Amino acid sequence: MNKKKKLTTASGRPYFENEDSMTAGPRGPILLQDYYLHEKLAHFNRERIPERVVHAKGTGAFGTFKVTHDITQYTKAKLFSKVGNTCRVFVRFSTVGGEKGSADTERDPRGFAVKFYTEDGNWDLVGNNTPVFFIKDPKKFPDFIHTQKRDPKTNLKSPTMMWDFWSLNPESLHQVMILFSDRGTPDGYRFMNGYGSHTFSMINGKNERVWVKFHFKTLQGNKTFNNAEAELLKGKDPDYAQRDLVQAIEAKDFPKWALKIQVMTDEQAKKFRWNPFDITKVWPHGDYPLIEVGIMELNEIPLNYYADVEQSAFAPAHVVDGLGLSPDKLLQGRILAYPDAHRYRLGANYEQIPVNRPVHPVSNYQRDGFMNVEGNGADNPNYFPNSFDNIVTDKNYKEPSMKLDSDIADYYDRNEKDDDHFTQPGDLFRKVMNEKEKANTISNIIGAMSGITGPEKDNIIHRQLSHFYKADKELAMNIAKGLKFNFKP
Ligand code: NDP
Repeated sequence: MNKKKKLTTASGRPYFENEDSMTAGPRGPILLQDYYLHEKLAHFNRERIPERVVHAKGTGAFGTFKVTHDITQYTKAKLFSKVGNTCRVFVRFSTVGGEKGSADTERDPRGFAVKFYTEDGNWDLVGNNTPVFFIKDPKKFPDFIHTQKRDPKTNLKSPTMMWDFWSLNPESLHQVMILFSDRGTPDGYRFMNGYGSHTFSMINGKNERVWVKFHFKTLQGNKTFNNAEAELLKGKDPDYAQRDLVQAIEAKDFPKWALKIQVMTDEQAKKFRWNPFDITKVWPHGDYPLIEVGIMELNEIPLNYYADVEQSAFAPAHVVDGLGLSPDKLLQGRILAYPDAHRYRLGANYEQIPVNRPVHPVSNYQRDGFMNVEGNGADNPNYFPNSFDNIVTDKNYKEPSMKLDSDIADYYDRNEKDDDHFTQPGDLFRKVMNEKEKANTISNIIGAMSGITGPEKDNIIHRQLSHFYKADKELAMNIAKGLKFNFKP
């Protein structure tokens, strides 16, 4: 670190100074031939890449994952082949709706994206701190996110847009309930759970598939801010969560999470009360208990934020042998959208950036493109099949089939059972929350809904209260009272 290095141009030429431009006479003008000046200004102009449309504000850390329990009956993934196996990980935490400079204690879901650098390639579990999501179809995603961003005219955040959308999409109710509980304002990133949220699958050595949900349970315990504390910190310490993670890891107080899974067989899936591939629903723990898998510890802050955190790119499509996807519609949409976003933001070769690079060599026939820095396949053939190279396709990596017995159609008139948006949010309110949590949730909702304005105000409030009412009468009537709204269910 302290070893002196020579200042150089980007092309490596040692350079003799760094402050005064080359001029005609001591008072100027500056000469066009001062190449080092141009290089410095031109590079500065290009320092920003597009910020992520969602999850722009974030932080990250490297760490390790260790397998503590045998789950080989469910998966043949090499990572899980032996208790004691370890693997390096990189985790990026984030808020969702705000810009890159926004405050860390905003009421928002938190991104919880984990990259496992396994010997069979990178496995990205790209989740949130909530087990469910606002919508279950990717076609709604751009509309939903627009409501979380800024009003096209005023350029202000708009409670009217948010509650208009939520009230027109009752499937959002479960996530709205979690968001407006104090878990919507976690105390930094160490004291919250992470969830894969989607239903994924696992495939074992006999090529049998089960459906799986992933849970990262914080071993620091859940800690949240109430609304007033979170609001205060937005101004006092907008980088609270970033600072908290960096300081904890630098003090060697390494945060840890227990990875657990829920498992459902295909027979159970067919009989499940809800659609098991609907991301607005959880699988009750009583029916599908958590199974211990391993421990993740974060113990290394990247030396350079931009290099590793800003350039990190996760994709739910990145599963490895022994793990698989599912028909979950939102997952299917994310399989496309994430790599597409990375290609736009970082370029076609984004997986060559060190933080995204798998630990074992990549062999395929993709070539060229911007910033191709990994040798581009050298002199190996760039077409397949060919008579010259030594890349083989290994049939052992083939996944078992997934049976489909459906007609292709736009199922916009989905069946009734899938549209129970109310039981689980009601259970959360009645069975899980204590009296204080209930009171805070109600008051947080009242505060946020008080921001609804404009000619549709009463309709939006009425529509949303009707959803709350279907989940829990006490919840709805208390919110109506707080809003001084004459709600007739
Ligand atoms: P359980 O009583 O077995 O579990 C309740 C779960 O809720 C725990 O995982 C707990 O996390 C979590 N939790 C507590 N407070 C909140 C909150 N304000 N927001 C979000 N999660 C919270 O219940 P069931 O499995 O029978 O499910 C009942 C309800 O609990 C569900 O309808 C759902 O709303 C919620 N829930 C269920 C999860 C699941 O996968 N089954 C996961 C998360 C929430 P912790 O143990 O870390 O305190």
